Amino acid sequence: MTEKIQRFLVDERPETPCLVVDLDVVKSNFLQLKEQLSEAEIFYAVKANPAEPILSLLRDHESNFDAASIFEIEQCLALGVAPEKISFGHTIKKQSHIKRAFDAGIRLFAFDSIQELEKLSISAPGASVFCRILTPNDGADWPLSDKFGCVQALAVDLLCQASDMGLVPAGVSFHVGSQQRNPSVWGDALAKSAEIFAATAKRGVTLSLLNLGGGFPSQYKPPMCELSEHIKAIKDGLRQYFGDSLPRIIAEPGRYIPGDAGIIQSEVVLISQKSLNAEKRWVYLDIGKFGGLPEVLDEAIKYRICTPHDGEETGPVVIAGPTCDEVDVIYEESDYELPLNLAIGDRVEILSAGAYTASYSSVGFNGFPPLKEYYI
Ligand SMILES: *Cc1c(COP(=O)(O)O)cnc(C)c1O
Repeated sequence: MTEKIQRFLVDERPETPCLVVDLDVVKSNFLQLKEQLSEAEIFYAVKANPAEPILSLLRDHESNFDAASIFEIEQCLALGVAPEKISFGHTIKKQSHIKRAFDAGIRLFAFDSIQELEKLSISAPGASVFCRILTPNDGADWPLSDKFGCVQALAVDLLCQASDMGLVPAGVSFHVGSQQRNPSVWGDALAKSAEIFAATAKRGVTLSLLNLGGGFPSQYKPPMCELSEHIKAIKDGLRQYFGDSLPRIIAEPGRYIPGDAGIIQSEVVLISQKSLNAEKRWVYLDIGKFGGLPEVLDEAIKYRICTPHDGEETGPVVIAGPTCDEVDVIYEESDYELPLNLAIGDRVEILSAGAYTASYSSVGFNGFPPLKEYYI
Protein backbone atom coordinates (compact mmCIF):
# COMPACT_ATOMS: atom_id res chain seq x y z
CA MET A 1 0.00 0.00 0.00
CA THR A 2 1.45 3.38 -0.96
CA GLU A 3 1.87 6.30 1.45
CA LYS A 4 -0.62 8.27 -0.62
CA ILE A 5 -3.29 5.61 -0.10
CA GLN A 6 -2.44 5.31 3.61
CA ARG A 7 -2.83 9.05 4.05
CA PHE A 8 -6.13 9.03 2.14
CA LEU A 9 -7.53 6.29 4.37
CA VAL A 10 -6.54 8.12 7.54
CA ASP A 11 -7.66 11.59 6.40
CA GLU A 12 -10.89 10.64 4.65
CA ARG A 13 -11.88 7.54 6.56
CA PRO A 14 -14.12 6.45 3.65
CA GLU A 15 -17.05 4.16 4.19
CA THR A 16 -16.16 0.54 3.50
CA PRO A 17 -15.97 -1.45 1.35
CA CYS A 18 -14.10 0.76 -1.09
CA LEU A 19 -11.40 0.56 -3.71
CA VAL A 20 -8.62 3.15 -3.56
CA VAL A 21 -6.25 3.37 -6.53
CA ASP A 22 -3.02 5.37 -6.60
CA LEU A 23 -2.82 6.78 -10.13
CA ASP A 24 0.93 7.39 -9.76
CA VAL A 25 1.40 3.62 -9.61
CA VAL A 26 -0.85 3.07 -12.62
CA LYS A 27 1.29 5.53 -14.52
CA SER A 28 4.61 4.04 -13.47
CA ASN A 29 3.43 0.50 -14.26
CA PHE A 30 2.40 1.62 -17.73
CA LEU A 31 5.64 3.48 -18.39
CA GLN A 32 7.74 0.64 -17.05
CA LEU A 33 6.07 -1.95 -19.26
CA LYS A 34 6.28 0.34 -22.27
CA GLU A 35 9.97 0.89 -21.69
CA GLN A 36 10.86 -2.73 -20.97
CA LEU A 37 8.82 -4.08 -23.87
CA SER A 38 9.81 -1.41 -26.35
CA GLU A 39 9.23 -3.75 -29.30
CA ALA A 40 5.49 -3.57 -28.66
CA GLU A 41 2.74 -0.98 -28.87
CA ILE A 42 0.71 -1.12 -25.68
CA PHE A 43 -3.04 -1.68 -25.99
CA TYR A 44 -4.40 -1.47 -22.43
CA ALA A 45 -7.10 -4.13 -21.89
CA VAL A 46 -9.86 -1.82 -20.71
CA LYS A 47 -11.81 -4.55 -18.94
CA ALA A 48 -9.17 -4.84 -16.19
CA ASN A 49 -10.29 -1.48 -14.83
CA PRO A 50 -12.37 0.81 -17.04
CA ALA A 51 -12.50 3.75 -14.61
CA GLU A 52 -12.31 7.08 -16.35
CA PRO A 53 -9.30 8.42 -14.41
CA ILE A 54 -7.27 5.40 -15.53
CA LEU A 55 -8.36 5.63 -19.17
CA SER A 56 -7.68 9.37 -19.25
CA LEU A 57 -4.25 8.97 -17.72
CA LEU A 58 -3.29 6.27 -20.22
CA ARG A 59 -4.73 8.31 -23.09
CA ASP A 60 -2.51 11.22 -22.02
CA HIS A 61 0.48 8.88 -22.20
CA GLU A 62 -0.34 7.79 -25.75
CA SER A 63 -1.62 4.34 -24.85
CA ASN A 64 -3.75 2.34 -27.24
CA PHE A 65 -6.77 0.44 -25.96
CA ASP A 66 -8.03 -3.12 -26.36
CA ALA A 67 -11.80 -3.15 -25.99
CA ALA A 68 -13.98 -6.15 -25.20
CA SER A 69 -17.29 -4.57 -26.20
CA ILE A 70 -18.85 -1.73 -28.15
CA PHE A 71 -19.47 -0.03 -24.83
CA GLU A 72 -15.78 0.05 -23.95
CA ILE A 73 -15.07 1.34 -27.45
CA GLU A 74 -17.61 4.14 -27.06
CA GLN A 75 -16.24 4.96 -23.61
CA CYS A 76 -12.73 5.38 -25.05
CA LEU A 77 -14.00 7.45 -27.99
CA ALA A 78 -15.94 9.71 -25.63
CA LEU A 79 -12.66 10.38 -23.79
CA GLY A 80 -11.11 11.56 -27.04
CA VAL A 81 -9.15 8.44 -27.96
CA ALA A 82 -8.74 8.20 -31.74
CA PRO A 83 -10.39 5.13 -33.31
CA GLU A 84 -7.02 4.07 -34.81
CA LYS A 85 -5.83 3.55 -31.24
CA ILE A 86 -8.60 1.10 -30.35
CA SER A 87 -8.89 -2.58 -31.22
CA PHE A 88 -12.03 -4.67 -30.87
CA GLY A 89 -10.13 -7.58 -29.37
CA HIS A 90 -12.99 -9.88 -28.47
CA THR A 91 -13.68 -12.93 -30.65
CA ILE A 92 -17.41 -12.97 -29.82
CA LYS A 93 -19.26 -9.89 -31.07
CA LYS A 94 -22.82 -9.11 -32.12
CA GLN A 95 -23.18 -8.22 -35.76
CA SER A 96 -24.80 -4.91 -34.80
CA HIS A 97 -21.89 -4.07 -32.49
CA ILE A 98 -19.33 -4.79 -35.22
CA LYS A 99 -21.19 -2.37 -37.47
CA ARG A 100 -21.36 0.30 -34.77
CA ALA A 101 -17.63 -0.05 -34.14
CA PHE A 102 -16.80 0.06 -37.85
CA ASP A 103 -19.00 3.13 -38.35
CA ALA A 104 -17.13 4.76 -35.47
CA GLY A 105 -13.83 4.20 -37.27
CA ILE A 106 -12.52 1.02 -35.63
CA ARG A 107 -10.43 -0.93 -38.14
CA LEU A 108 -8.79 -3.70 -36.09
CA PHE A 109 -10.81 -6.74 -35.03
CA ALA A 110 -10.20 -10.20 -33.52
CA PHE A 111 -11.78 -13.45 -34.65
CA ASP A 112 -11.30 -17.17 -34.12
CA SER A 113 -13.89 -18.78 -36.41
CA ILE A 114 -15.24 -18.65 -39.95
CA GLN A 115 -18.59 -17.57 -38.55
CA GLU A 116 -17.11 -14.48 -36.92
CA LEU A 117 -15.07 -13.76 -40.04
CA GLU A 118 -18.30 -13.77 -42.06
CA LYS A 119 -19.84 -11.24 -39.69
CA LEU A 120 -16.75 -9.04 -40.03
CA SER A 121 -16.77 -9.28 -43.83
CA ILE A 122 -20.36 -8.00 -43.87
CA SER A 123 -20.15 -5.24 -41.28
CA ALA A 124 -16.48 -4.23 -41.31
CA PRO A 125 -15.42 -4.51 -44.98
CA GLY A 126 -11.75 -3.79 -45.55
CA ALA A 127 -10.88 -3.93 -41.85
CA SER A 128 -7.74 -5.61 -40.53
CA VAL A 129 -8.41 -8.84 -38.70
CA PHE A 130 -6.24 -11.04 -36.52
CA CYS A 131 -6.86 -14.64 -35.54
CA ARG A 132 -6.70 -15.72 -31.91
CA ILE A 133 -5.04 -19.10 -31.48
CA LEU A 134 -5.15 -21.61 -28.65
CA THR A 135 -1.91 -21.83 -26.70
CA PRO A 136 -1.11 -23.57 -23.40
CA ASN A 137 -1.94 -21.55 -20.27
CA ASP A 138 -0.08 -23.77 -17.78
CA GLY A 139 1.02 -21.67 -14.83
CA ALA A 140 -1.79 -19.12 -15.07
CA ASP A 141 -3.84 -18.47 -11.93
CA TRP A 142 -6.71 -17.38 -14.17
CA PRO A 143 -6.46 -19.39 -17.42
CA LEU A 144 -8.05 -18.27 -20.68
CA SER A 145 -7.22 -21.37 -22.68
CA ASP A 146 -10.55 -22.90 -23.64
CA LYS A 147 -13.14 -20.39 -24.61
CA PHE A 148 -11.16 -18.29 -27.08
CA GLY A 149 -8.93 -19.21 -29.98
CA CYS A 150 -8.66 -21.95 -32.56
CA VAL A 151 -6.00 -24.48 -33.50
CA GLN A 152 -3.09 -23.43 -35.72
CA ALA A 153 -4.20 -25.23 -38.87
CA LEU A 154 -7.61 -23.56 -38.76
CA ALA A 155 -6.00 -20.16 -38.14
CA VAL A 156 -3.92 -20.60 -41.29
CA ASP A 157 -7.00 -21.47 -43.36
CA LEU A 158 -9.07 -18.62 -41.95
CA LEU A 159 -6.35 -16.01 -42.44
CA CYS A 160 -5.93 -17.18 -46.05
CA GLN A 161 -9.67 -16.90 -46.62
CA ALA A 162 -9.92 -13.46 -45.05
CA SER A 163 -8.53 -11.60 -48.06
CA ASP A 164 -10.99 -13.34 -50.40
CA MET A 165 -13.70 -12.06 -48.09
CA GLY A 166 -12.62 -8.45 -48.48
CA LEU A 167 -10.75 -8.21 -45.19
CA VAL A 168 -7.06 -7.58 -44.48
CA PRO A 169 -5.50 -10.65 -42.81
CA ALA A 170 -3.27 -8.84 -40.32
CA GLY A 171 -1.91 -11.58 -38.14
CA VAL A 172 -2.12 -13.69 -35.02
CA SER A 173 -3.00 -13.17 -31.37
CA PHE A 174 -2.86 -15.35 -28.28
CA HIS A 175 -3.23 -15.05 -24.53
CA VAL A 176 -0.90 -17.05 -22.29
CA GLY A 177 -3.40 -16.87 -19.41
CA SER A 178 -4.06 -14.17 -16.87
CA GLN A 179 -1.78 -13.86 -13.82
CA GLN A 180 0.76 -16.08 -15.54
CA ARG A 181 3.43 -17.48 -13.19
CA ASN A 182 5.45 -19.32 -15.75
CA PRO A 183 7.50 -17.21 -18.19
CA SER A 184 8.34 -20.28 -20.28
CA VAL A 185 4.83 -20.27 -21.82
CA TRP A 186 5.79 -17.39 -24.10
CA GLY A 187 8.22 -19.47 -26.14
CA ASP A 188 5.57 -22.00 -27.10
CA ALA A 189 3.05 -19.34 -28.08
CA LEU A 190 5.62 -17.45 -30.15
CA ALA A 191 6.76 -20.65 -31.88
CA LYS A 192 3.16 -21.46 -32.85
CA SER A 193 2.63 -17.91 -34.10
CA ALA A 194 5.77 -18.02 -36.24
CA GLU A 195 4.63 -21.31 -37.77
CA ILE A 196 1.38 -19.64 -38.82
CA PHE A 197 3.27 -16.71 -40.35
CA ALA A 198 5.34 -19.21 -42.35
CA ALA A 199 2.39 -21.37 -43.40
CA THR A 200 0.31 -18.46 -44.68
CA ALA A 201 3.34 -17.00 -46.48
CA LYS A 202 3.64 -20.27 -48.39
CA ARG A 203 0.09 -19.70 -49.57
CA GLY A 204 0.86 -16.16 -50.64
CA VAL A 205 -0.54 -14.35 -47.58
CA THR A 206 1.95 -12.13 -45.75
CA LEU A 207 1.03 -11.40 -42.15
CA SER A 208 2.22 -8.24 -40.44
CA LEU A 209 0.83 -8.24 -36.90
CA LEU A 210 1.64 -10.26 -33.80
CA ASN A 211 -0.56 -9.65 -30.76
CA LEU A 212 0.98 -10.95 -27.53
CA GLY A 213 -2.20 -10.50 -25.44
CA GLY A 214 -1.88 -9.98 -21.69
CA GLY A 215 -0.93 -12.16 -18.74
CA PHE A 216 1.53 -9.83 -17.00
CA PRO A 217 1.12 -10.41 -13.26
CA SER A 218 0.25 -8.56 -10.06
CA GLN A 219 1.46 -9.44 -6.57
CA TYR A 220 -0.84 -11.89 -4.88
CA LYS A 221 0.07 -14.99 -2.86
CA PRO A 222 2.37 -16.87 -3.33
CA PRO A 223 5.09 -14.43 -4.41
CA MET A 224 5.31 -13.82 -8.13
CA CYS A 225 8.16 -13.70 -10.62
CA GLU A 226 9.30 -10.27 -11.76
CA LEU A 227 7.90 -8.58 -14.85
CA SER A 228 11.44 -8.64 -16.25
CA GLU A 229 11.37 -12.46 -16.43
CA HIS A 230 8.31 -12.32 -18.67
CA ILE A 231 9.90 -9.62 -20.80
CA LYS A 232 13.08 -11.62 -21.19
CA ALA A 233 11.13 -14.73 -22.24
CA ILE A 234 9.23 -12.68 -24.83
CA LYS A 235 12.39 -11.09 -26.23
CA ASP A 236 14.18 -14.45 -26.37
CA GLY A 237 11.19 -16.04 -28.12
CA LEU A 238 10.89 -13.22 -30.64
CA ARG A 239 14.57 -13.52 -31.49
CA GLN A 240 14.42 -17.31 -31.74
CA TYR A 241 11.26 -17.60 -33.83
CA PHE A 242 11.07 -14.34 -35.77
CA GLY A 243 14.76 -13.45 -36.06
CA ASP A 244 15.50 -9.96 -37.32
CA SER A 245 12.30 -9.41 -39.28
CA LEU A 246 9.87 -8.61 -36.50
CA PRO A 247 6.27 -7.92 -37.50
CA ARG A 248 4.31 -5.08 -35.90
CA ILE A 249 3.93 -6.21 -32.29
CA ILE A 250 1.22 -5.24 -29.86
CA ALA A 251 0.65 -6.26 -26.25
CA GLU A 252 -2.58 -6.06 -24.29
CA PRO A 253 -1.71 -5.79 -20.59
CA GLY A 254 -4.74 -5.61 -18.34
CA ARG A 255 -4.13 -6.70 -14.78
CA TYR A 256 -0.53 -5.49 -14.62
CA ILE A 257 -1.37 -1.82 -15.18
CA PRO A 258 -3.84 -1.13 -12.30
CA GLY A 259 -3.53 -4.34 -10.22
CA ASP A 260 -0.84 -3.39 -7.71
CA ALA A 261 -1.96 0.25 -7.75
CA GLY A 262 -5.13 -0.33 -5.73
CA ILE A 263 -6.31 -1.68 -2.40
CA ILE A 264 -9.76 -2.51 -1.11
CA GLN A 265 -10.53 -1.46 2.43
CA SER A 266 -13.09 -3.65 4.12
CA GLU A 267 -14.59 -3.96 7.59
CA VAL A 268 -14.92 -7.12 9.68
CA VAL A 269 -18.66 -7.67 10.12
CA LEU A 270 -18.57 -10.82 12.23
CA ILE A 271 -16.08 -13.26 13.68
CA SER A 272 -17.68 -16.49 14.87
CA GLN A 273 -17.26 -20.21 15.37
CA LYS A 274 -19.43 -23.07 14.16
CA SER A 275 -18.89 -25.09 17.36
CA LEU A 276 -17.46 -24.44 20.80
CA ASN A 277 -14.18 -26.18 20.03
CA ALA A 278 -13.96 -25.30 16.34
CA GLU A 279 -10.42 -24.99 15.06
CA LYS A 280 -11.20 -22.32 12.48
CA ARG A 281 -12.87 -18.99 13.08
CA TRP A 282 -15.18 -17.66 10.39
CA VAL A 283 -14.34 -14.06 9.51
CA TYR A 284 -17.06 -12.29 7.54
CA LEU A 285 -16.01 -9.15 5.67
CA ASP A 286 -18.23 -6.49 4.13
CA ILE A 287 -17.01 -7.54 0.66
CA GLY A 288 -17.11 -10.90 -1.06
CA LYS A 289 -17.57 -12.56 -4.44
CA PHE A 290 -20.51 -10.33 -5.34
CA GLY A 291 -19.04 -7.08 -4.02
CA GLY A 292 -16.00 -7.05 -6.30
CA LEU A 293 -13.93 -10.16 -5.59
CA PRO A 294 -15.16 -12.64 -8.22
CA GLU A 295 -11.60 -13.73 -8.90
CA VAL A 296 -11.59 -15.64 -5.61
CA LEU A 297 -13.81 -18.13 -7.44
CA ASP A 298 -12.24 -21.54 -6.73
CA GLU A 299 -9.74 -19.50 -4.68
CA ALA A 300 -7.89 -18.83 -7.93
CA ILE A 301 -6.57 -15.40 -6.97
CA LYS A 302 -5.18 -15.27 -3.44
CA TYR A 303 -5.09 -11.68 -2.27
CA ARG A 304 -2.73 -10.52 0.45
CA ILE A 305 -4.66 -9.17 3.43
CA CYS A 306 -3.45 -6.59 5.97
CA THR A 307 -4.98 -6.08 9.41
CA PRO A 308 -4.35 -3.65 12.28
CA HIS A 309 -2.83 -6.58 14.24
CA ASP A 310 -0.22 -7.75 11.75
CA GLY A 311 2.80 -9.27 13.52
CA GLU A 312 0.68 -10.65 16.36
CA GLU A 313 -0.18 -14.31 16.86
CA THR A 314 -2.44 -15.77 14.15
CA GLY A 315 -4.87 -18.66 13.81
CA PRO A 316 -6.62 -20.44 10.94
CA VAL A 317 -9.72 -18.83 9.44
CA VAL A 318 -12.35 -19.18 6.79
CA ILE A 319 -12.91 -15.79 5.17
CA ALA A 320 -16.35 -15.09 3.74
CA GLY A 321 -18.41 -12.31 2.20
CA PRO A 322 -21.44 -10.56 3.66
CA THR A 323 -24.26 -11.74 1.38
CA CYS A 324 -26.75 -14.48 2.15
CA ASP A 325 -25.52 -16.64 -0.73
CA GLU A 326 -23.78 -19.87 0.27
CA VAL A 327 -21.21 -19.46 -2.52
CA ASP A 328 -20.10 -16.12 -1.10
CA VAL A 329 -17.08 -17.62 0.66
CA ILE A 330 -13.70 -16.08 -0.13
CA TYR A 331 -11.09 -18.52 1.22
CA GLU A 332 -11.80 -21.87 2.87
CA GLU A 333 -9.19 -24.24 1.39
CA SER A 334 -6.21 -21.93 1.05
CA ASP A 335 -4.98 -22.04 4.67
CA TYR A 336 -5.40 -18.36 5.42
CA GLU A 337 -4.51 -17.27 8.95
CA LEU A 338 -5.49 -13.98 10.59
CA PRO A 339 -4.48 -12.47 13.95
CA LEU A 340 -6.25 -13.89 16.99
CA ASN A 341 -6.82 -10.33 18.16
CA LEU A 342 -8.72 -9.36 15.04
CA ALA A 343 -12.04 -7.91 16.18
CA ILE A 344 -15.46 -7.12 14.76
CA GLY A 345 -15.36 -3.59 13.35
CA ASP A 346 -11.64 -3.70 12.48
CA ARG A 347 -10.70 -2.43 9.05
CA VAL A 348 -8.62 -4.73 6.86
CA GLU A 349 -7.00 -4.07 3.51
CA ILE A 350 -7.03 -6.38 0.51
CA LEU A 351 -3.86 -5.61 -1.43
CA SER A 352 -3.24 -5.49 -5.19
CA ALA A 353 -6.97 -5.14 -5.81
CA GLY A 354 -6.86 -2.53 -8.58
CA ALA A 355 -7.80 -4.90 -11.41
CA TYR A 356 -10.88 -7.02 -12.02
CA THR A 357 -12.72 -5.85 -8.89
CA ALA A 358 -14.91 -2.73 -9.03
CA SER A 359 -16.28 -3.35 -12.53
CA TYR A 360 -17.29 -6.84 -11.46
CA SER A 361 -19.25 -5.79 -8.37
CA SER A 362 -22.98 -6.46 -8.43
CA VAL A 363 -25.43 -3.59 -8.88
CA GLY A 364 -27.41 -4.48 -5.80
CA PHE A 365 -27.38 -8.12 -4.78
CA ASN A 366 -28.82 -8.28 -1.24
CA GLY A 367 -29.25 -4.53 -1.55
CA PHE A 368 -25.52 -3.85 -1.26
CA PRO A 369 -24.51 -0.97 -3.55
CA PRO A 370 -21.64 -1.37 -6.05
CA LEU A 371 -18.10 -1.01 -4.72
CA LYS A 372 -17.16 2.62 -4.09
CA GLU A 373 -14.08 3.74 -6.01
CA TYR A 374 -11.52 6.47 -5.33
CA TYR A 375 -8.77 7.38 -7.79
CA ILE A 376 -6.16 9.59 -6.16
C1 LIG B 1 -8.44 -10.08 -20.59
C2 LIG B 1 -7.66 -9.88 -21.83
C3 LIG B 1 -6.43 -9.23 -21.76
C4 LIG B 1 -5.79 -8.78 -20.46
O1 LIG B 1 -5.29 -9.86 -19.77
P1 LIG B 1 -4.46 -9.66 -18.42
O2 LIG B 1 -4.16 -11.04 -18.00
O3 LIG B 1 -5.32 -8.92 -17.49
O4 LIG B 1 -3.23 -8.91 -18.77
C5 LIG B 1 -5.76 -9.02 -22.95
N1 LIG B 1 -6.28 -9.41 -24.12
C6 LIG B 1 -7.46 -10.03 -24.22
C7 LIG B 1 -7.97 -10.41 -25.56
C8 LIG B 1 -8.18 -10.29 -23.07
O5 LIG B 1 -9.35 -10.93 -23.18
